[in-house]
Amino acid sequence: MEFYTLASSSSGNAALIRSGKTAILLDAGISARRIAQALALLGMTPEELDAILITHEHSDHVGGIATLTKKYAIPVYASRGTAHFLPQAGSALRIFEAGDAFTVGALEIQSFRTSHDAADSVDYRIDGPDGSLGALTDSGYVTDDAAKTLTGVDLLLLEANHDVGMLQSGPYPYHLKRRILGEHGHLSNDAAADFALRCVKSGTSDILLAHLSAENNTPEAAEYAVARKLQAAGCSVRLSVAPRDRLSEVHTVCRKSLSFA
Ligand SMILES: [Zn+2]
Ligand SMILES: [Zn+2]
Repeated sequence: MEFYTLASSSSGNAALIRSGKTAILLDAGISARRIAQALALLGMTPEELDAILITHEHSDHVGGIATLTKKYAIPVYASRGTAHFLPQAGSALRIFEAGDAFTVGALEIQSFRTSHDAADSVDYRIDGPDGSLGALTDSGYVTDDAAKTLTGVDLLLLEANHDVGMLQSGPYPYHLKRRILGEHGHLSNDAAADFALRCVKSGTSDILLAHLSAENNTPEAAEYAVARKLQAAGCSVRLSVAPRDRLSEVHTVCRKSLSFA
């Protein structure tokens, strides 16, 4: 299984999971044109996508859906509350209840609830024949469902949205600072570091920090906060930051036990 981010920040998110003939887009928060361009770099076209999984209705996650579903017949999976906000997806919608599991091609998808100021936000764990990955972005804290579901995934896409100090002393108005720091907001670098350590202790070997704020964080601050925590605990894993607005490197997902076989 291969994993790439196409874009990752508060202004647009999309990622690609490829396993054999199955290809899934996780969120479509950049334009359909940019998604097609990124896929072209990987020798793919949008027609080859088997599904688009949506986490929630904010525009940095669904901005490309209207054009994508108009131009291509790609099924769009969304939780019931999120689907309500996606009329533009029309008959492409596949509605599920938050917490449901389903299958796309060779991949098993497990949804779980996050805590965010959206109608019915979820994130996903994806299990393939050779390993597992999970995503946790746009959540004010690590929900019990997230912690339970993501334990032991080989690769974790993890939000490190802001540095609390930068946010508090930065230019955002008070209500926005409260929203981001609140329990329906976003994960800070410190929260990401805590959860990263917990996951690494349960077997995660590749952590990709995601959804960084341009105003209240830097890639260096995010990576330092998490690396410091992991190093203090004597853990060494692949740790990187998803690029804001270009395709990431490939992350090959393989079960840890298999890599020693
Ligand atoms: Zn977002
Ligand atoms: Zn959001």
